[in-house]
Amino acid sequence: MNKKELELYIHIPFCARKCAYCDFLSFAAPERVYEEYVNKLIEEIYGQSGNFADTHVTTIFLGGGTPSILPAYLMEALFGALYECFEIDADAEITIEANPGTLTMEKLEVYRQSGINRLSLGLQSADDQELKYLGRIHSYDDFLKSYQRARQAGFTNINIDLMSALPGQDVHSWKTTLRKVLMLKPEHISAYSLIIEEKTPFYERFGEDAADPKHVPVLPQNPHTAAELAARASVMTLPDLPEEDVDREMYHLTKELMAAQGFFRYEISNYAKPGFACRHNIGYWTGVEYLGLGLGASSYTHGYRYHNTGDLKEYLSLNLYEAGAAAREIELLSVEERMEEFMFLGLRMTGGVSGSEFLARFGQNMWNVYGDVIERLQKEGLLEVEIPMVRLTELGVDVSNRVLSEFLLK
Ligand code: SF4
Repeated sequence: MNKKELELYIHIPFCARKCAYCDFLSFAAPERVYEEYVNKLIEEIYGQSGNFADTHVTTIFLGGGTPSILPAYLMEALFGALYECFEIDADAEITIEANPGTLTMEKLEVYRQSGINRLSLGLQSADDQELKYLGRIHSYDDFLKSYQRARQAGFTNINIDLMSALPGQDVHSWKTTLRKVLMLKPEHISAYSLIIEEKTPFYERFGEDAADPKHVPVLPQNPHTAAELAARASVMTLPDLPEEDVDREMYHLTKELMAAQGFFRYEISNYAKPGFACRHNIGYWTGVEYLGLGLGASSYTHGYRYHNTGDLKEYLSLNLYEAGAAAREIELLSVEERMEEFMFLGLRMTGGVSGSEFLARFGQNMWNVYGDVIERLQKEGLLEVEIPMVRLTELGVDVSNRVLSEFLLK
């Protein structure tokens, strides 16, 4: 029997402290909760694996939150269950997200023994003042120590996460961050522009209503510590965000500096040395099925999309040996929805989408479904066509949200 490819995503929702811009499902929690959570996660691994006997796992991604906050013994237990329950390829790409300030040599060694072969380090900025504005728990120096420790432990595939368009940031300071990071010679860099998400302290300072003189900021009511409350209040005094044109200048500078150092851009915000593009993300962007395990984790399996409950108390109280007990909002994707996803996600990649792949997947000609849109966007200089491929032009990348929304079928 030919087994299907499956990707695993494992969510660890804990962070030392909440960053001021973050709307991920993450929070600070007492350490005793970590063990309780991992035990439940293991229960879920056992419960779900029976439904995936016809698959082999090509990639695993531990995201969060801050997965590296877990003590080493819990990570060992988690991987023990994963190897017992799933058929994991010998060459599977296994990534863990780690934040500086939470990585010890002991943890790194356990990661290596567990088969983790890719480390994704959340730096965001090499400027300590900018890190402070973001509410990060670490300095640039802390990051450097973690990076060097990871190299010493034998990690040969390291991603560094960066963020541009930060409060008070200018092109010069962004360039300095990029230069410092490039000098370290990582294998992969993700460089996103800051997005102001609702229900975050940053939204109170920079969101749509913040400029309204009648607007009264509503800072979150239940901070975990006095320091967190102070940090959140100080968000209101942050300098302004860079203007849109400065943001674009930063984006173009990123592309130039990365290319000069041998990185290729394979997705709007992702750059890799040859052979180091993230297989997990590529799978996600090209429609490989993925199973999400843990609090709030999203899944797309057997044609269904769903996500686990995001309520920690509920998650911890469920019998997760029962397959799918945490799954909520289960939805069978229609052909139209799958086509839309194929276009949205595929066009984010610099290689673009393939008409032949579209035909193989949906039994329909891509030009019959999207011909008018493609032709119009091509005329506007936003798409380029090289049959069977369709991809965004540089101009198209600049306005990618607008371009991608044109592929909605309803
Ligand atoms: S470390 Fe990451 S997940 Fe945690 S609060 Fe900060 S941005 Fe969010």
